[in-house]
Amino acid sequence: MSREVVDTLLVSGQQWEGELLHTCKDGKQVVVESRQVLTRIDHNQPALILEINRDITFTHLSERSRAEVDQLRLVAIVESSDDAIISKTLDGIITSWNLAAERMFGYSSQEAVGKSITLIIPEELRNEEVMILSKLRKGEHIDHFETVRMRKDGSRLDISLTISPIKNRAGQIIGASKIARDITERKRLQRNLQFLSDASKVLSSSLDYKTTLQTIARLAVSQIADWCAIDMLAEDGSIEQLVVAHVDPQKVQWAWELRKKYPITMDAAYGIPQVLRTGVSEFVPFISEDMLVAAALDDEQLALVRKVGFTSGMTIPIVIDGKARGTLTFALAESSRHYTHGDLVMAEELASRASLAIQNAQLYREIQQSRDQLDIILHGVADGIVVYDMHRRIIYANEAAAQMTGFASKQEMMETPAPATAAKYEIIDEQRRPFPPSQFTYQRVFAGEREAEAVIGYRNGTEGQTERWSFLKSLPILNELGEVIMVVTIIHDITERVLAEHRKDMFISMASHELKTPVTSLKGFTHVLQFRLAKQGDQQVLHFLSRMDAQLNKLTKLITDLLVLSRMQVGQPAFQRETVNLDGLLAEIVENVQATTTTHAIIVEGKTGAHIVGDKDRLGQVFINLLTNAIKYSPHADKVIVRLRREQNQAVVSVQDFGIGVEEAYHQKIFERFYQVSDPEEPTFPGLGIGLYISKEILDRHAGRITLKSRRGEGATFSVTLPILEEEK
Ligand code: ADP
Repeated sequence: MSREVVDTLLVSGQQWEGELLHTCKDGKQVVVESRQVLTRIDHNQPALILEINRDITFTHLSERSRAEVDQLRLVAIVESSDDAIISKTLDGIITSWNLAAERMFGYSSQEAVGKSITLIIPEELRNEEVMILSKLRKGEHIDHFETVRMRKDGSRLDISLTISPIKNRAGQIIGASKIARDITERKRLQRNLQFLSDASKVLSSSLDYKTTLQTIARLAVSQIADWCAIDMLAEDGSIEQLVVAHVDPQKVQWAWELRKKYPITMDAAYGIPQVLRTGVSEFVPFISEDMLVAAALDDEQLALVRKVGFTSGMTIPIVIDGKARGTLTFALAESSRHYTHGDLVMAEELASRASLAIQNAQLYREIQQSRDQLDIILHGVADGIVVYDMHRRIIYANEAAAQMTGFASKQEMMETPAPATAAKYEIIDEQRRPFPPSQFTYQRVFAGEREAEAVIGYRNGTEGQTERWSFLKSLPILNELGEVIMVVTIIHDITERVLAEHRKDMFISMASHELKTPVTSLKGFTHVLQFRLAKQGDQQVLHFLSRMDAQLNKLTKLITDLLVLSRMQVGQPAFQRETVNLDGLLAEIVENVQATTTTHAIIVEGKTGAHIVGDKDRLGQVFINLLTNAIKYSPHADKVIVRLRREQNQAVVSVQDFGIGVEEAYHQKIFERFYQVSDPEEPTFPGLGIGLYISKEILDRHAGRITLKSRRGEGATFSVTLPILEEEK
């Protein structure tokens, strides 16, 4: 225990507390927290001192060293930081300068400390510092901000700054510390991304790729390069400088002249020719004097290029169809900036986008050309051609189509919706019935038909407007899934043909009508003659007269057929609506036809017991046709069988013969107008080929049907089905 402690204790009274340094036996010193209490025997006599010591060496030391460590650590952090950490006085004099600051700005700590901070502030930004210092003095808070500073070599760098005040113990602001982070790379990335996005917008904005590339070059010199040039490989293999850009138009002029004077030779081992040959980018982050010397063709060129002061450059190929067809060159000059690998990646991305845009433009041009060609071809075609898209809008029409549908131009037609075009006209089918819009051929193809045809007649409401007729044919254009994406309709004008047929039908109608009267009176006179001669008993004359009568019957049938046919063509023949006893009608017809033949026996089996509604004469004509055909086409047979029966609500009449039969292939055809089966082996039978056509038409209008069962050489069975009158069912 030290003397002073005891003295204090004795003087002061009762106890003492404090830290003491003790030396141990081994000489080691320990710090103890000591508490000492004085005990007295009586009032003035101290007896003994009680001392309680606690070793606090460890706590004591570690607290001290912790402060030291903290100090050291702080220094280490400051020195190892990637950010420049600088402190300065309120007058802007630098007081500390870490390693990162040395690296970032190029000044050593010795060079910087003691100097004004304006050392690293570019001329035009000096005001910034004045503001900072005044704010610091006023104790105002300074927000983190981005700015530009200058290196020792004069080059600029983008930094982000954090400034905090330094206070003394009394809390007064005596200076500032600033942390500067180099954000050049981030800025560069931002600029590159911005440029790439701006350039991409330009690329997609136009199909004229030359103008597009020029715009991009101009964009480049405002954002990422001092110089930008775009060269393309011309057809003849030479290199064509498409564009040179610099912010100064005078320099651009100069560059053009330089290129004219020193054209690029394809065999050069570097630069644009090399990139075009290899398809690999050339990246020169640092352009050295040696490189300039090596590249220059003569002293004059070397002098010129030196004057430009290129520092960094890159040439990227524009690859189209796997081959380099052009190059994009970016260069930096008159500054200490250099391109980085990141810049190269961006430029290559831009080049690949540019090449895509060029290919698109080419493709578009090719399509446009073939479209133009097609347009010229289709313009000369007399048929109307219309193309509908999936929404059934007209996306193409040629002049003929516009003219046929009454439009002044194809544009006008394309702008009018198809239903509106159809609504302009009264549209009819071949039978002159209204033509339903859903039956238009393009609608049928959209509904699933693979090919649709129709004949339509049309006339607009205007008085005196002649009727036009068209043959429509529509075909689908399918996508890879087989879905209809477009429909092409061809409109063939058949007005002339239809009118000619109409005239012919009119003529036949008139002629047969005119023929009918004399034949009828001939028949009348024959009967008178037969009557008279029968009395006289001249058998031979009677025989001739009956043959004359048979021929007259044939003539009458022919004329009747012709009349019905022509009426059908010209318009609807007037049909009676009466109740017909079908079995009675058949009996009558069979009797009449039987009278005309001596070779065949017509056998009737069964009965229908049915009444039907219709035109008795026309229906009679159907059965006369079937029976006369059955006899005509079975020259070697001796019978024809007529079977009558009912099938549910229908009456069925079938006529079976045992003649030449009809080959399966003609089963449909024989019901067409003027169709006759011609067979080189068979004798040709007289006829017009209209009997079955008329029969079918007549049955159609009675809601009936006619079918055929036959094979060549095995006879034929024609069956007629007719609906039975309501009340009888
Ligand atoms: P046509 O006046 O020629 O008989 P149709 O219209 O009555 O005219 O018949 C058309 C064609 O159908 C005939 O030319 C013939 O080739 C064939 N045909 C019709 N009926 C028969 C039949 N019963 N047997 C064989 N062929 C027939």
